[in-house]
Amino acid sequence: MKARFKAVNIDCNFDYTFEAERLAAAGIELVLAKSATEDEIIRTCADADAVILEGARTPMTARVIAALPRCRIIAKYAVGVDNIDVGAATAAGVVVANAADYCSEEVSDHAVALLLASARRVVAMDRFVRAGNWAGFTRTQPLRRISQLTLGLVGLGRIARGTARKMAGFRLRILATDPYLTGPGSEPGVEVVDFETLLRESDLVSVHVPLTPETRGLINEAALRAMKPNAVIVNTSRGPVIDQSALERALEEKWIAGAALDVVTEEPLPAGSALRKFDQVILTPHTGADSVDSMDHVRRTVVDTIEAVARGYWPPFPVNPKVAPRVHLRPFSDWARP
Ligand code: NAD
Repeated sequence: MKARFKAVNIDCNFDYTFEAERLAAAGIELVLAKSATEDEIIRTCADADAVILEGARTPMTARVIAALPRCRIIAKYAVGVDNIDVGAATAAGVVVANAADYCSEEVSDHAVALLLASARRVVAMDRFVRAGNWAGFTRTQPLRRISQLTLGLVGLGRIARGTARKMAGFRLRILATDPYLTGPGSEPGVEVVDFETLLRESDLVSVHVPLTPETRGLINEAALRAMKPNAVIVNTSRGPVIDQSALERALEEKWIAGAALDVVTEEPLPAGSALRKFDQVILTPHTGADSVDSMDHVRRTVVDTIEAVARGYWPPFPVNPKVAPRVHLRPFSDWARP
């Protein structure tokens, strides 16, 4: 391997001793930076063989990618790559890789937590008790037996399947919609239906699609109006998949009964956001993926990604596997890791 394979992390947020040591042992130089704008990234990464990023807003645009002549791999400490212009990277021969499986357990756990908290109104009850109340909550806000409800999963990828497996224990009906399922594709116990049927029949809707031009605003006014008035929507995917102003109207005018959101259109959620005022909304600060274990997992995956490409192998999770790489790569499965 060429001695000076240079990887630049443009989104440094924590201590990278683990990454630096493992990469150094493989003869890879790791440069730590914090480059928030296109021009800063272009400057910092001009001679980088690999670019590493974490942030959901770091602008890996077509302009940036075109200005990185040596770059072979863009690796992200995340699943969602919506801030990377994957089309431009593919056209330029740059492999894009994520850490596809690092937090499927955590995000599906989080979706289940939000679904159960919504169905049992746990957060509203907590506020009710803290306000000095005790009796009467369920007289004004009746609860339904969870096994009598229907759960609808929008997208049936890794996280949705984990959510389905965990929710199956509650013995409720589970529907899913995903236009890209191939073959039998489904999960045992999950009925695959079209989007309209899912919206019409679900009491709990949980969103698990990537943010793409097609899914931006997928849950729009028409979708929200198609849902049952007792329905709750849970989003642990990306904020802009839901049209947030339509959601605010839906909550205000009671087209649906509630929402539980780990992700919102603008993050951090602005102090004056209308979402903060609704009692029937549960908010978490984009922490669905977080755990000590997932952090450990993502760090190992990113290091494997950089080291694999530096040694001439595909990374474990290429997002654009059809790209013609700038430098020939052998299958990841052929790499005998030390
Ligand atoms: P995945 O790629 O395994 O699954 C996504 C599924 O969505 C695929 O099956 C795909 O076919 C389907 N899909 C695409 N467009 C669709 C559409 N228009 N309608 C219905 N289905 C559609 O991804 P995953 O690991 O399950 O993650 C899903 C998303 O969750 C990620 O893209 C990411 O944005 C988000 N995420 C959020 C957090 C968090 O911290 N909250 C953490 C990880 C991932």
